[in-house]
Parts: sequence; C-alpha cells; structure tokens
Amino acid sequence: MAQFRRASRLDPIGVSEILTIGAKAAGMKRQGAPVIILGAGEPDFDTPDHIKEAAAAAMRAGETKYTPLGGTLELRLAVQAKFKRDNGLDYGLDEITAGTGAKEILFDAFMASLDPGDEVIVPAPYWTSYSDIIRIAGGEPVLVPCGSNTGFRLTAEKLQAAITPRTRWLLLNSPSNPAGAGYSAADYRPLLEVLLRHPDVWLMADDMYEHITYGGFEFATPAQVEPRLKERVLTVNGVSKAYAMTGWRLGYAGGPKDLIAAMKVVQSQSTSHPSSISQAAAAAALNGPQEVLAERRAGFQARRDLVVEALNGMDGIECPVPEGAFYTFADCAGVLGKRTPKGAVLETDADFCAYLLDCHHVAVVPGRAFGISPYFRISYATSETELQEALTRIAAAVAALA
Ligand code: PMP
Repeated sequence: MAQFRRASRLDPIGVSEILTIGAKAAGMKRQGAPVIILGAGEPDFDTPDHIKEAAAAAMRAGETKYTPLGGTLELRLAVQAKFKRDNGLDYGLDEITAGTGAKEILFDAFMASLDPGDEVIVPAPYWTSYSDIIRIAGGEPVLVPCGSNTGFRLTAEKLQAAITPRTRWLLLNSPSNPAGAGYSAADYRPLLEVLLRHPDVWLMADDMYEHITYGGFEFATPAQVEPRLKERVLTVNGVSKAYAMTGWRLGYAGGPKDLIAAMKVVQSQSTSHPSSISQAAAAAALNGPQEVLAERRAGFQARRDLVVEALNGMDGIECPVPEGAFYTFADCAGVLGKRTPKGAVLETDADFCAYLLDCHHVAVVPGRAFGISPYFRISYATSETELQEALTRIAAAVAALA
C-alpha cells in the first residue's frame, strides 16, 4: 500500500481543537443527542439581498473571468473609499489588495515577510489560525499571555519585554476573537509608542470585527491613531463578519506598497485572486447602504448582554463584558477542582468543556485552544432561543458540581 508522507513543514501544526470539538458535537447530534453548538465563528443571519443581487448582476454581465491580482479596480476603489470613510486612512490603489478571505491576506503577508526563525508577537488569547499560519510561513509565534486582569489586552511593558532582534511583527486584533476585547485609541497609544522606538517591528492590525462593537466602545485602528507608523502597518479587514459573507471568501488590506506587491507575488502562485463574483459582491457591500451594520449590532448586543449576565450568575464563572465581536470568554477557574456527579474532578478548562458537551450537550471551546487557560469561549452568533436553552444547561451543569 502506498504510504502518504506528510511534509515536515506541517509538523508543528496541530489539529485545531475547535474543529475536533465541532466534529465530536456534530457526531453526537447525528446520533440523536440534542447538542447545541456555540462554537461557530460566523454570523447566523443571511447576506443582505442587495449584495446577492450585485453578485448575480456581475455573473450576468460576464464578470466571470480572471481578474487582476489583488482584485478588480472596482473592488480596490471600494476598499479605498471604505478606509477613507470609516478610518480616515488614505491608501493608494497600489497599497490595497484583496484575498480569498482575510485568512489569505494574513497568509500572504507572513509568507511574503518571514524568514525562518523570524518572530511574530501574538498576545494570547488569539485566533487559533494566527500561530499556525506564522509557523507554516516559517516564523515563530511569540505568545504573550494577556488575561482578564488586563482586559485581555497587551500592555506596553509586556510588549517591550517580548521584542527581540528577531521580531518582525506585532499582530493585534481588535475587537478580538476569542475575547471580544477592543483596543480604544487610548489603549493603542502606549503600544504604538513602544513600536516607534523599534523601527524594525511592523504591525499587523486585524480589524475583522470593526463593525461589531457595543456600548460606548469606539473602534480605532493603529495606522489612524499613529500616522507616523502607517508606513509599517498592514490594516487587515474583510466582509465575512460585518456583512455575513463568510462563504464568499473575501478579505482585504491596506499597507505599504512594497509589502502589498510581495503579498501579490505569493497570491499569484496560489489563488491568483478571490472569485470575480465575490469581488463584485464585496464592492457592493462596501459601497452600498451601511444601515444593516447598526441593525445587526443591536441584535448582537442583546445576545451579549444575555450571555454575560447569565454566566456571571453562575458560581465559579466570571465573564468580563466584551467590547465587540460575538464571543464571550469567561474565566472558569472557580469550577476547577470540583467534582462532576459521576465523580470526575475537573482539572482544566478542557475538562470543563468536555463535561459540558458529554453530560449537558453544549459545545463550547476551552481557552487552551486560544493559548490561555482557564477560560472558555461561547460564540453567541445563534438565536436567542437556542442561547437561552444552552445557558440553562450550563447553569445546571455548574450547579451539579460539588
Ligand atoms: N481574523 C479573525 C480574528 C477571525 O476571527 C477570522 C475568522 N474566524 C478571520 C480573521 C478570517 O476571516 P475570513 O477569512 O473569513 O475573512
């Protein structure tokens, strides 16, 4: 029998715990267990109609051919206008690129810039793909734990301490997946001061959740907060979360033109460009009516409040109030050391999550998967009815611990 030999470049890449839990939960569901999955990182509503119409119109008009690398002129103009309108940022058309999801943007940027052993500072908790993309590109993620005591935000002291001569990038994500933590302009400032003193360190700002923010939190992006840094900032964004377009696979970025050109070299030998139809849809999303964003935001905020309040009413669980995104990241230190009705002792956040899934049929993801423990992530991008039921089950599970 032929034996498949996997490339050694994949050796440091584990199987994502989010996928493992998702697969287990889906398997249980298929066998009839009433499992509620609070794991998915995607909005539960549909892509707005005017965006779908733009895609259909593009198809009918024959926009079904190869496009330029980095996106059509129409899309890059829409991205340019978006950066100006929402962020006060001026990017030339050669400083803008689009990829097959923001994931490709991150991938292209790291492939284009990292040599073996180069370091990327990643505050934890972090979106799980960051560390693996950095490793595939040959770099080393330098994970800096940032717990709930600092609002899951990196501090200037920790940043300063993590910088070495090998540091190429700092990667920040606001509001964040998984904690929903946001950096205001004032939060960014001390970090940007540190970077001003380290001219070789570049900054990647993942703004995917820009439009999903709550209450008084005011979104800011580093290139806007500190214009002197703009020449070494890559501002990453996409339409997946804002416009419920995860399946269209369209992300974009603004940054210095030499970096953008190098990213296009990577793209030219992998995807060539995102789907022409998705590009037309994304241009319509960015150019079209933006009221949809506020409507969605209100809906998400109601769910956030529901989840935070319920979790904080549980003995041993503490949930900070997230500034954005559609996740809560609660501290579960208070349930560790306790015993389940079957007699098992919960030693880690992963034990707690396994107990919730096995005994109470709720799938959530342990902090461990995001590089910091003991926490667990709930994605509340699901209906209020389902959320209510899941929270009732989690409360019962916690109450049953001794
Ligand atoms: N950044 C963050 C923080 C995310 O959570 C995600 C999606 N889970 C992405 C980037 C990638 O999004 P996409 O590839 O769908 O644009």
